[in-house]
Amino acid sequence: MKGLMQDYPLTLQHLLWRMDRLFGRKEIVSRLEHGVHRSNYGELVERAGRLAGLLSRLGVRPGDVVGTLAWNDYRHLELYYAVPCMGAVLHTLNLRLFPDQLEFTIRDAGDSVIVVDRSLIPVLNQLAGRLPALRALVVMNDGQPLPEHGLGEMLDYESGLAGERPDFPWPRLAEDDAAAMCYTSGTTGNPKGVVYSHRSQFLHSMATLGTDSVGLSERDAVLPIVPMFHANCWGIPYGAGMAGSKVILPGRYLGDAEVIVNLADEEGATVMAGVPTIWINTVQYLEKTGRRLPRVRTILCGGAAIPRGLMEAMDRLGLRMVHAWGMTETSPIGSFANVRSWTPAGAELDQRLTQGAPAPCVEIRIADLASGKELPWDGQAFGEIQCRGPWIAAAYNHRADPDRFTVDGWLRTGDVATISPDGYITIVDRTKDVIKSGGEWISSVELEGAIMAHPKVLEAAVIGLQHPRWQERPVAYVVAKPEFKGQITGEEIREFLRDKVASWWLPDEVRFIDEMPKTSTMKFDKKALRATAEPLSQATPAPGS
Ligand code: ADP
Repeated sequence: MKGLMQDYPLTLQHLLWRMDRLFGRKEIVSRLEHGVHRSNYGELVERAGRLAGLLSRLGVRPGDVVGTLAWNDYRHLELYYAVPCMGAVLHTLNLRLFPDQLEFTIRDAGDSVIVVDRSLIPVLNQLAGRLPALRALVVMNDGQPLPEHGLGEMLDYESGLAGERPDFPWPRLAEDDAAAMCYTSGTTGNPKGVVYSHRSQFLHSMATLGTDSVGLSERDAVLPIVPMFHANCWGIPYGAGMAGSKVILPGRYLGDAEVIVNLADEEGATVMAGVPTIWINTVQYLEKTGRRLPRVRTILCGGAAIPRGLMEAMDRLGLRMVHAWGMTETSPIGSFANVRSWTPAGAELDQRLTQGAPAPCVEIRIADLASGKELPWDGQAFGEIQCRGPWIAAAYNHRADPDRFTVDGWLRTGDVATISPDGYITIVDRTKDVIKSGGEWISSVELEGAIMAHPKVLEAAVIGLQHPRWQERPVAYVVAKPEFKGQITGEEIREFLRDKVASWWLPDEVRFIDEMPKTSTMKFDKKALRATAEPLSQATPAPGS
């Protein structure tokens, strides 16, 4: 017997309907170069209609791909809705990719139109003459002169919108139509395209509303400090639209703690989201200035493990972090570290520091690194996380990649973890970062967390370097807090670690650097560290010495 329910397609058009009919007055605040810009959902829906009209006039048809090269602001949000709702596919271009990689993603996705922010024209200009398939370029600008470029004719976004009607006839879409695509940042080889469907985005948006996830509601004001070009901006633009939350967008100022704190304070942010490096900066700033953000209820943090010292510092500042795990391929919600009702008070912090338990709709298992066999959830056995669910990628754009997808339909994440009997995941490492020393594994993530707990340390990344006897040995790259620069030694750090990790885990060398290299998504760039690392010095002590 079949259920007798309506066949209502789960598409982003439903979100547009909600924003229009229920939340028209809700504010969208963007920090632009010349100050704060204010609009609301009503204007967004109207402008999205005009934008869809403009893109149609430029020849964009259902299934065509529209690229965006933009910061976190209201126009980018308009594109987030107009493009998928007209049946086209939104491709958020990563503005920090190398030119060759950027060109690869534009070609691989098949972008027919690119909408670019004026300030990012120089990024695109690196590809002048190399994008023959491009039908049109639209520039988002506020009447300022454009920088020199060799990209040909550019249409002005605002004049284009002014020439269109707001009541675009949105076509009927199927829920498995592509809505958006995002390329992984490609730490090895070319980036890989993840193609989200309307259905996956719809269900993922519902997930952001869950109380045990982000819990977005109409009463929230959400400030994503995650680039809108990366991993679907963690689903916040759509989650906010579905819930009717106020949206606060930091423009290009993602790395500026003062701008972020001002925005959060003045606009009444209740939820903020970003990777740990963002919060390391924020803690520094709040401690230095004595400022506080009492209205913020949740700091969503993922993308890399939260060091214990960071969570403790945020707790002291009254900012409650919720640790989440995910990746571009998982839309990105995978798991959330909320505390179980039966967890004793003394164990809460430890539980919050794990990568959490699988979110509703996401199934997770761990598989032995050598045999691929499924491992028990005993908090000891570690293996690769594999997952499946309605918003988990089943394939990459134009790539079969059997290494990434198991024959029985699970995504192989490349993350190595244990799972506790309660279902809490603890990431030990990425398969490519784990250090193999004398036949044993050393978790670079755990070592980094331990080093960053040192009161004089701001940031630390650990990589494995080749060793003639032990195969690989850990080397720590450390940035001291500004006030302790030059006043901390490697021996001091090794001494600090002695009662925290096994003796053979102690880094052979501690190398102090002025600045940590970061990836395009603000994570520690271990690939860059490896590429420029001096080999281990000959005087390397044997493990355990
Ligand atoms: P990139 O390759 O640019 O980092 P993603 O954002 O897709 O692209 O990265 C996802 C990866 O980030 C995961 O596979 C995992 O290794 C890491 N990651 C995400 N969240 C966490 C977390 N909470 N703790 C540790 N690692 C995380």
